[in-house]
Amino acid sequence: KLDWSRENFKCFRIHIMAGMEKLRVAVVGAGAAGLCAARHFLARQDLFAPPVLFELTKDVGGTWVYEERVGHYDNGLPIHSSMYRDLRTNIPKEVMSFPDFPFAKHLPSFVPHTEVRKYLEQYCDHFNIREHIRFGTTVDAVDPVKVKTGWKGLAWDITSSDSVDRSKSIKERFDVVMVCNGHFYDPYIPAIPGLGKFKGMLMHSHEYRSAEPFADKSVLVLGAGLSGLDIAMELSDVNAKVILSHGQKPLTCPMPQGVEQAPPVSKVLEDGIVEFQDGKRAEPEVFMLCTGYNFVYPFLNEQVGVQVKEHLVYPLYKFLLPPAYPSLFIVGICRAICPFPHFHIQSKFAISVLDGSFALPSREEMEKDIEMDMAARRARGVATRHILKLDSEQWAYNDHLAHLGGFQPLPRYWSNLYESNKVFRARDMLNYKTYNYNVVNETEWVVKNLQGQQ
Ligand code: FAD
Repeated sequence: KLDWSRENFKCFRIHIMAGMEKLRVAVVGAGAAGLCAARHFLARQDLFAPPVLFELTKDVGGTWVYEERVGHYDNGLPIHSSMYRDLRTNIPKEVMSFPDFPFAKHLPSFVPHTEVRKYLEQYCDHFNIREHIRFGTTVDAVDPVKVKTGWKGLAWDITSSDSVDRSKSIKERFDVVMVCNGHFYDPYIPAIPGLGKFKGMLMHSHEYRSAEPFADKSVLVLGAGLSGLDIAMELSDVNAKVILSHGQKPLTCPMPQGVEQAPPVSKVLEDGIVEFQDGKRAEPEVFMLCTGYNFVYPFLNEQVGVQVKEHLVYPLYKFLLPPAYPSLFIVGICRAICPFPHFHIQSKFAISVLDGSFALPSREEMEKDIEMDMAARRARGVATRHILKLDSEQWAYNDHLAHLGGFQPLPRYWSNLYESNKVFRARDMLNYKTYNYNVVNETEWVVKNLQGQQ
């Protein structure tokens, strides 16, 4: 049994300082999260060897690498990116960026996806990450192993293969694994009775690229999350007749032309007609599921005990590491967050765990902490499937990790501007992306000027 007591961590730290071998870090994925993790490990070469990033595609940027095709790459792997052609960000660049690397000054607040990809390329080069990436390499297995040396007797065997010729495979040993494989690529298909009987075109937003193919068509968009709303607006621009079906309270902000709201779909009838929860029916030509994505870790050994149930990845201490295997970190599973700054905080926290600046509690204490946190959320009426949805709680979470890890928290204007943007989006989804906050960097300025824009 591994002993993760405070004393042991202290010893480990002293060990490292005394000249033990540097820890070898593997990063799965070179999207925003993987790049961010690598940037912070590279800054700590006193303790860590340069990380190895495994990236199954030929590019950095993950979901920001727009791919015209849908389905599969030439090598048979499923297309990773869920980007659509005309997407502009829904978070202003002033707070979407990593806190230590702003977007270019000349850009507007809400940038096209191509600019985010460029930004990630620049981040990668600025922090000299590229030379550590193994492109075209898929991680197939992450297996824990007990060892005599290394990080408290724990190491990881990573099996990776050439993304084209899967028979070319190697196994290597690492001390730490950062799992950064993304969470927006495996479509979640809700269990709607009779769905298979739908006679028109059934698709998921993962396969949506542009509005033109839907011009003048009747489209049922299921889900009014950010993608559902965005896609409904794009469809309205090409004169599609959109039914936006969702389970939230009816949206009161001005809706795009040709978009009407409906309650959730209850079933699809024998003749392919769709029935809603209020009993009304429709026969759209297209049924577009904007229903989100599954968490998937096909490479992770079951022994690690990480389970995915009802959109919850569990058990993870601070939504990040399994108590029984605390040298593995699953970055960015929280939802309704400001992703890049969140990755920054989580990566720095992971390092504070590994270098001992945060003395990790015992396995039992961590498990108890997780249970108490879940219980508190459930007592507040949070359903299991929404536990990872941090929303405005993300700021307290970020601050908490920074406090525990003893590093700089995010400047306050981050939460101010992000939260203000959320309010504007809810009030005016048709126009909020035309706002320009460009030089915002002080709390008072943000509040004053955002109010001025009402
Ligand atoms: P990804 O970007 O998905 O990167 C994961 C990487 O891991 C990929 O490169 C993939 O190829 C690689 N990988 C996966 N499995 C393996 C494996 N087995 N072996 C090797 N490599 C592997 N965020 C914002 O901040 N603002 C926005 O406006 C915004 N809009 C969005 C719009 C859409 C349509 C979507 C889908 C997401 C949006 N997001 C937005 C969220 C976005 O997902 C995050 O900003 C961020 O890019 C996620 O980064 P990631 O590194 O976690 O995942």
